[in-house]
Amino acid sequence: MPKGRSFSAKLAHEISTEGKVICPKCDTEIKKVKLVRNVKSKSGKWAPKYEFVDICKCNEKDIMSGKL
Ligand SMILES: [Zn+2]
Repeated sequence: MPKGRSFSAKLAHEISTEGKVICPKCDTEIKKVKLVRNVKSKSGKWAPKYEFVDICKCNEKDIMSGKL
């Protein structure tokens, strides 16, 4: 099974490659990653907030280093 990495197939199958999403910019798989951030509430308390982010080569460095 080709992984949809050819340029012609990339755009057409970007979303439907067996659940995988390939980033059109860096051509790597976009993975959903669960992140925990500390968010300050209105009462001034810090509380963990869980969220899912899409990670690919474009933003993994920023996310891993906590910039995003
Ligand atoms: Zn990317």
